[in-house]
Amino acid sequence: MSVVKLIEEMTLRSIIEQGHGLSFECDNCWRLVAVDVLDLIGRFGADATVGDVRRKLVCRRCNKRRARALVRTGNRKDECMPTRSRAGR
Ligand SMILES: [Zn+2]
Repeated sequence: MSVVKLIEEMTLRSIIEQGHGLSFECDNCWRLVAVDVLDLIGRFGADATVGDVRRKLVCRRCNKRRARALVRTGNRKDECMPTRSRAGR
């Protein structure tokens, strides 16, 4: 199973439990947004998966539905799964 698939199937609860952070990056214009996982749980529920949330997101800059999920596993910008963000922020 690929890392991307693993992340797609992570629930919002498990991200909180592991102390991870979650960002979404637009695959079209590279807009990067760090999201508040607790806020997402309020909207979608703790059992929603990263994939569920990702498919609902529309980029506010280019209006494309092409988000990529990035799970932040640490404080350094390269501590991300599956890869660090393209813009390197
Ligand atoms: Zn975009």
